[in-house]
Amino acid sequence: MFTDARGKTVVFVAHCILNQNSISDGTAVYPGFIQEIMEVLCTTHVGIVQMPCPEFLCLGLDRGNIDGSTSPVVEENTRIRETMGRRFAARKIEQLAQDLVFQISEYRKYGFHILGIVGINRSPSCGVDTTSKNNREIGGEGVFIEILRKELQKNRMDIDIVGIKPSEPGKAVKAIRTLMDAN
Ligand code: SF4
Repeated sequence: MFTDARGKTVVFVAHCILNQNSISDGTAVYPGFIQEIMEVLCTTHVGIVQMPCPEFLCLGLDRGNIDGSTSPVVEENTRIRETMGRRFAARKIEQLAQDLVFQISEYRKYGFHILGIVGINRSPSCGVDTTSKNNREIGGEGVFIEILRKELQKNRMDIDIVGIKPSEPGKAVKAIRTLMDAN
């Protein structure tokens, strides 16, 4: 089964790595995808799985605040984090995380290799090393990554999760290369 041309290796990436149009107002760094990361991934035979954008799906493109771009990013991110913590959003995030874990389990069932998951640091939802809280960028995970990690643990799945920042492409490329070398 699955002995066709597919390489049987996939990486899961935050939605906005492939589509900066989804990011909160005022924070896009590229017109489309994050070029430097895609240049690295395109030299490999890895399948790129675009994870859903949890904030877009819970709060819409404007994140529920049409004037979001007029506030300092970490302040707006703090507001977004608080809203993403509400019941309706928490339920949706949990479903998104479960759907991703299902995809991962299907790939694993058939011997595919999961290179890892790439999140976005400072994000109130997809932060891995840092997130936004109390109007600051602080160490810790975003609400989506927290739940995704719990779902992975619940299913006894040990998958590397790394965080990058679109505004720091050099470091981002290094993190992606490290992930590929380690896996
Ligand atoms: S960091 Fe996460 S929530 Fe924010 S735009 Fe990217 S995918 Fe969406």
